[in-house]
Amino acid sequence: MTTQENIAIFQRFVIGNYRRFPVSLVRGEGSYVWDADGNRYLDFFPGWGCDLIGHCPPRVVKAVQDQVAQLIHLPNTWYMEAQGQLAKALVERSGMDAQCFFCNSGTEANEAAIKLARLNGKPGRYKIVTMLNSFHGRTMGALSATAQPKYHKGVEPMLAGFQYVPFGDLDAVAKVIDSETCAILVEPIQGEGGINLPPPGYIEGLRELADKHQLMLIFDEVQTGMGRTGKWYAFQNWMVQPDAVTLAKAIAGGIACGGLLAKTRFAEKLVPGTHAATFGGNPIACRAALATIETIEADGLLERAGRLADLFRKRFEALKSRCPLIQTIRIMGAMIGIELSTDGAPIVDTCLKKRLLVNCTHGNVLRLLPALNLEEGQLHEGCDILDEVLSSHKG
Ligand SMILES: *Cc1c(COP(=O)(O)O)cnc(C)c1O
Repeated sequence: MTTQENIAIFQRFVIGNYRRFPVSLVRGEGSYVWDADGNRYLDFFPGWGCDLIGHCPPRVVKAVQDQVAQLIHLPNTWYMEAQGQLAKALVERSGMDAQCFFCNSGTEANEAAIKLARLNGKPGRYKIVTMLNSFHGRTMGALSATAQPKYHKGVEPMLAGFQYVPFGDLDAVAKVIDSETCAILVEPIQGEGGINLPPPGYIEGLRELADKHQLMLIFDEVQTGMGRTGKWYAFQNWMVQPDAVTLAKAIAGGIACGGLLAKTRFAEKLVPGTHAATFGGNPIACRAALATIETIEADGLLERAGRLADLFRKRFEALKSRCPLIQTIRIMGAMIGIELSTDGAPIVDTCLKKRLLVNCTHGNVLRLLPALNLEEGQLHEGCDILDEVLSSHKG
């Protein structure tokens, strides 16, 4: 089937809720993908951050192939080895006295966290503080937590009980906390909101406020978790422990999987009947996640995130001195945000024409979430293209 034929089928039969590039991708390997016409692209945004260790990582492919021939699905009425092993692996790497619940996506992980916060807030406390420009998902609870009115438009009313404050502003958090507040939910680094790094003292200050008012501190690490920032969990960059963490995107090397990790004393409130996910913690996803962890450790990829950060920073700092379009460079591990003085969409389109895949978020922030095993030669290949595109762009 040609790309044009495929697009025609989409136009007739697939709901048009996504803006898609006119490209049909058919194969991937590491940081490269190929389209239906045989063109190769370098991918600096593999799988929207889900393909943290590249496309089709061999250990994940093997684990899934083995599992799919053994048992495809098991509901949570049975014990299964892989789910227990994954929970153990995630808890051990968190340094927390915690337990896990598994689901299939980031939004579901946040729904579980919201319910957990409310269950622990009883009696009387149900409000959750979240941050402007946050992104927590598209189902109604997580969407209500997402403090971006553009995503609420048309589907109101939202779920009651969210208190929005600016990201990075501790005083604002202190001011909205009242006797009905039960939790603070925050991305340690805002992803979709533009790769916004927390100001110094912010993460620590949130912990202090949560302790002072006996709130649950919940980190949405759907984008930052699993080694993206050079630590298993981004919170480990600040030596601050949350009470719960949500995970998804990269957790299973590209296979759908989400998770909530919560301190045991809070997790105890999720008794039978309070919450569930039919596909959650299925053996395929869990074995894929275990193979992802194994790959990150065997290949030294946590350390590699820091190396990528250094290399990208060097390239973009050099470019910034020549290219007035670049306003700020925000990098932590393999999370890269380049704020531009112009709309980012045409830059993304020009990069696509030059066979480099990048993302633009928040209108004017180029976002890169490269694979941790991006090779140095590939990094320079892509940065050369970005250099050329940004230098010659006529905004
Ligand atoms: C992507 C994302 C989500 C939503 O994840 P889905 O799997 O699309 O539901 C939630 N929180 C953060 C921080 C994200 O980046």
